[in-house]
Amino acid sequence: MGWLGATTGFSFLGEGGFSPLHNGLFPPKGRPSKWLILVFLLLFQFHGECLAWNTASHPYISQRAFSTLPEDMQRVLDPYLDIILRASVVPDVILMDWPNHELNILDPSSDRDAAPNRIASLCSEITKELGNEDRDLAKVAYYMGLLSHYLADINQPLHTDNSSAEESWIHPAFEMDVLKHQTEISLVSTGTSFWVSPKEMTRATARRANAYYWPIIHAYTNGNGWKDVKDIAALNFQRAVDDVHDIWLTLWLLANPKELPAIALKVNQKEFKSGDTLRIEMSTLVSAGKLQEADIYIVIVADNGRYWFVGNGGSLLVSLPIPWMYRQEISSEVGIDVFSMSLDPGVPTGGYTVYGVLVTPGAFPLQKKLWLSNPAWVSFDVTGG
Ligand SMILES: [Zn+2]
Repeated sequence: MGWLGATTGFSFLGEGGFSPLHNGLFPPKGRPSKWLILVFLLLFQFHGECLAWNTASHPYISQRAFSTLPEDMQRVLDPYLDIILRASVVPDVILMDWPNHELNILDPSSDRDAAPNRIASLCSEITKELGNEDRDLAKVAYYMGLLSHYLADINQPLHTDNSSAEESWIHPAFEMDVLKHQTEISLVSTGTSFWVSPKEMTRATARRANAYYWPIIHAYTNGNGWKDVKDIAALNFQRAVDDVHDIWLTLWLLANPKELPAIALKVNQKEFKSGDTLRIEMSTLVSAGKLQEADIYIVIVADNGRYWFVGNGGSLLVSLPIPWMYRQEISSEVGIDVFSMSLDPGVPTGGYTVYGVLVTPGAFPLQKKLWLSNPAWVSFDVTGG
């Protein structure tokens, strides 16, 4: 599908833009008010939320994940950050509960429930403690550090299988190479996915990492070692940081019902060129067992001021403030496809931001007091070539 929407099956009804020359506060009858849309977008921008590895890599992963949490969460937990970082190595140096550090998804003889169970039980401990009236944040921090370790380990491809072809020197060699180069890995967020079902998502994480198991083995046995795997390492390292960020944030929100329902957005890449497919995914989070109806608004804004509301479940881009979906029953769900399109050469290069919010059904989306959720956003770039 083309960005400019000329192709079949894709309607493009117009393109928005902010004109500084707009000559009145009120729009002519029958036309959407660009001024109101600008207010809407500014409200998004100024809302509070500004939006296994070597043992020694774990505090770095935890630290990076922590640094991308919402400011209010960081402010509360910052006095306990040391505990988080120290706890992130405890599974390797004190607990040594190895079955919890791996998930050999293709090997029926290995314990494939240990890691998902361990991760899920730490999640319950954290939400339980956060929900206590006299909550002990030192304890929360300790569990967050442990959780960070196990989850990061499951993102390490070599922790997802145990073939006899994997010579024993490869594992420590790869982890040492990652440790040596970890600060060169440029970590860029592509948004957030809520961890709505820790056991299932732990298994999905292992399956995702497992795709890189054999490429790593081959690179070290008969390839160029680190040189061949540095991109693979960077990708999985980034995913480890993202997962730790996402799971911590999810637990924090679940323990703070006034923050719910919540919405999060994720894009499939940070940088796109023509021919690439842009995919926007959404996840939503509600208080346990509490369903709520909402209109879901998604808008893509280019740095040059143009904007497009994503309408009709993702098949329409328009400058009118229409919802992506009307009256949706919101539940805790992850991986909801919001929008997908292949970027053709006509796509203007530059920065883009996707915004999303849940709004009271039928309400005008520009009235912030009728928003049911936080506003979520994620940025990406379209480059030439
Ligand atoms: Zn470990």
